[in-house]
Amino acid sequence: MAEPRRVAIIGAGPSGIFAAQALLNHPGIQIDLFDRLPTPYGLLRYGVAPDHTSIKGMGVALARVFDSPDVRFLGNVELGRDVTREELLGAYDAVIYAAGAAEDAEMAVPGENLPGSQSARSFVAWYSGHPDAVPFRLTGVRSVVTVGVGNVAVDVSRILCKSVAELTPTDMPDAVLNELRGHEVRDVWVVGRRGPEHASFTTTELRELLTLPEVQPVVHDDLDGLDVTTLDRRPRANIEAMRAAKQRDVPDASMRLHLLFWHRPVEIRGNRRVSGITLERTALDADGRLIGTGEDRTVECELVLRAIGYRATPLPGVPFDEARGVIPNRSGRVVNACGEVAPREYAVGWIKRGPTGVIGTNKSDAAETVAALAEDLEDEEMSRPGWGDTAPLEAVDELLRRKGLTPTSYADWMRIDAAETALGGRYGRARTKIATWDELLDIARGPGSVSSRRGGGGAQGGQHGGVDGGVHGGQPGG
Ligand SMILES: Cc1cc2nc3c(=O)[nH]c(=O)nc-3n(C[C@H](O)[C@H](O)[C@H](O)COP(=O)(O)OP(=O)(O)OC[C@H]3O[C@@H](n4cnc5c(N)ncnc54)[C@H](O)[C@@H]3O)c2cc1C
Repeated sequence: MAEPRRVAIIGAGPSGIFAAQALLNHPGIQIDLFDRLPTPYGLLRYGVAPDHTSIKGMGVALARVFDSPDVRFLGNVELGRDVTREELLGAYDAVIYAAGAAEDAEMAVPGENLPGSQSARSFVAWYSGHPDAVPFRLTGVRSVVTVGVGNVAVDVSRILCKSVAELTPTDMPDAVLNELRGHEVRDVWVVGRRGPEHASFTTTELRELLTLPEVQPVVHDDLDGLDVTTLDRRPRANIEAMRAAKQRDVPDASMRLHLLFWHRPVEIRGNRRVSGITLERTALDADGRLIGTGEDRTVECELVLRAIGYRATPLPGVPFDEARGVIPNRSGRVVNACGEVAPREYAVGWIKRGPTGVIGTNKSDAAETVAALAEDLEDEEMSRPGWGDTAPLEAVDELLRRKGLTPTSYADWMRIDAAETALGGRYGRARTKIATWDELLDIARGPGSVSSRRGGGGAQGGQHGGVDGGVHGGQPGG
């Protein structure tokens, strides 16, 4: 029988998992799904809003990949920190980069670094219980301005506008719920530099935001003059949702949700921390370019959240297009600075195409990448890594062991999953997220373990022949 081919996937988010699923259609391939976090699922666990439980439920379908004896999860291993690109290329036939987009775009305006000016990404990470998140303090915050008119802006605004009673059934960590419980935010602004017809909200999410109980929507723009007949379906439906919101009167409203278009931030104001944001009115010139009109207004606020897009981080040694914030590639094949294909290296998901699309978009994206990889694997000429006389799997495990790494396995993740479910169950919740590295690693490693982001023992968690046999199935942790 032919020796199995071995593929490493860096990032166990939706795109990495879809890539693994697609690879399983090609017999004779063994897959290691690495993630820097001890848990799988990427932004499905740490981005998708906790109150959108039906989307979180997509994890059930993603989890099935771990039922395969040819797939193992190796969490708590970071490319760049723990292993290098060269080491991976030495141990695997091919490497797929699926590391997502973990940074955020900046507004580049004065005052952006004042305390109280943050990225929506960091707010999302906090309420999602990401172990790297810095806690938010909402004491003294009465007005929040979110810059950006996509679904991330909608998510963070909705979380601020919902009552704690509405958020309690979610998986938010207790500390987050406690902070939200006491908040005194009365005004949440969503600001876009172009018009309402250009906003990238999806209509279901926008409508949900504009019809929240006890929240008075305030649409500042005049929508009467807008000819919706020339618009595509989504912007037309968005305008209809905004027109309906203009008619809505919420007599007992405890909060106001403002939509303000045709304004761009020019300065975040404040001495020691944010006290307001100056916005300049914008318009389109004769060529359709966005220009400032010089007409400013200031909105008082104590917190500014920029939600103007995510950006991928370069992976050490891996080609990166700084301008586009992606790994340059042709149909998923990584391309180097000279425009040549880098053999045995592939990209998928947000790091391949930029931070756009819904979770399902990553499935067709992964199919394209895996088709390219499978075609290349069939090419007998493709050089294979120099394993010497060590068997491939042992070579990988030996590499991890030699480096003192103890990856978390799928069985370890199942322990975290069970602990979170039990923690939530005590208060009638389906799950409560555990939000610190120490706790996650202690639970993963079982009783008596000592938490460490770098381990001291050997590689764990082999479904296909590693040290720990692995547990399959079960409910994923959204
Ligand atoms: C706030 C927010 C809300 C969203 N809501 C929805 C929604 O409601 N519905 C929907 O369909 N889509 C939603 N999306 C989009 C969806 O989350 C993305 O399409 C999807 O997660 C992208 O998948 P990915 O695998 O490319 O990246 P990610 O999900 O980011 O996964 C990347 C993984 O790589 C790991 N990683 C990063 N660097 C390294 C490294 N150096 N070494 C090892 N591992 C590494 C990360 O830990 C992470 O687990 C949302 C996105 C955001 C940001």
